[in-house]
Amino acid sequence: MVPPPESGTLAGPAVPLFDLRLRPEELAAVADTLRSGWLTMGPRTEAFEAAFAAHLGTRHAVCVSSCTAALHLAYLGAGVGPGDEVIVPSITFVATANAVRYCGATPVFAEIRGVHDPGVDPEHVASLIGPRTKAVCAVHFAGYPAAVDELRALCDARGIALIEDVAHAPSATLGGRKLGTFGLAGAFSFFSNKILSCGEGGLLATDDDAVAAAARRMRSQGMSSGSWSRYTGATDTYDAAGPGFNYRIDDPRAALLLARLEHLEDDIARRRALVLRYRSMLAGIEGITVPFRDADVDTSSCYVMPICVRDPEQQGPLRRHLRDAHSVQSSLFYPPIHRFTAYEDVYGEQSLPRSEGWARSELTIPLFGHLTHDQQDRVVGAVADGMSRAHGAAGAGA
Ligand SMILES: *Cc1c(COP(=O)(O)O)cnc(C)c1O
Repeated sequence: MVPPPESGTLAGPAVPLFDLRLRPEELAAVADTLRSGWLTMGPRTEAFEAAFAAHLGTRHAVCVSSCTAALHLAYLGAGVGPGDEVIVPSITFVATANAVRYCGATPVFAEIRGVHDPGVDPEHVASLIGPRTKAVCAVHFAGYPAAVDELRALCDARGIALIEDVAHAPSATLGGRKLGTFGLAGAFSFFSNKILSCGEGGLLATDDDAVAAAARRMRSQGMSSGSWSRYTGATDTYDAAGPGFNYRIDDPRAALLLARLEHLEDDIARRRALVLRYRSMLAGIEGITVPFRDADVDTSSCYVMPICVRDPEQQGPLRRHLRDAHSVQSSLFYPPIHRFTAYEDVYGEQSLPRSEGWARSELTIPLFGHLTHDQQDRVVGAVADGMSRAHGAAGAGA
């Protein structure tokens, strides 16, 4: 089948986990930047940072090359160094913990609250805080707020920093306040399959002037000024005031982000409607648990759609059935970090039963703003079919 002109040109599953379509004005913003001759970090990056800070309501937004870089700079901003510990969930993308190790510190893994809420459990976090704990990182799983109000109170009482991994949750809120503004710093991702994407990119948001200033220096080799300010004559030399990295973003990506920021709320609104429709259709399928509550959808950014099988034995067969019989892609969010070779080899075996139980039963089904109802019906039909086969097989065996 020849795809319609506005669709992507990649061959893949009938219903992919995620799909991206760029509007003509978004493509034009990138082309204009390329034509301008200024490709590295410059005026478009500054414009995007100003727009994103205003959107969030933070004093500072520092755009970088990835969320991983933003997490690294956030941990450094919290004073994390060799010998320190940072408490992170195990059910998150491995970057949340890897960036702790960049600082020479040790990630300490906390449990999730449970199958209805895979956010980090504040009680377990409290029990893990010790003399070496420098920070806690909360991840807003799938765009639903972690308990950052409780965690903030806990961290304040113990004199440690709260960092938010907001990779899933641009524009999501808790109590009317945007996620990414509860802790010392919030780290956003603009990776290709994230809600606000440009390919590779990230951003550190903070109200703390010193954390922002250090992040600005460290993203560009510790230098006191950048190429754009020297080009415009604002500065004519620089000092390297401290250590640094090359964590710069470039202006074509910043231009794409600025153009796409305008449609962020529309995209999230479509995702919310799709998630509510998914929830009502999935509710009748035996053997499936749908995490979170209908009432949570309104304030979530709805990054992905997790579902859990009640019998972990069904996870693999259901995923294979979706792929092979219905051409529906699914994913696992996430294999628990504490079980990865790179973690077990260094920190030893650890037991986190709720996190491991989640990883044995979760699958993520397709969700993106322009997912059609037909595609959605196909996904739900495939899940229902897969589950009825599983029950049929179990019944036949009994
Ligand atoms: C995607 C993601 C990251 C890393 O983002 P990059 O921009 O690819 O570095 C970190 N944390 C979570 C929870 C993510 O989903």
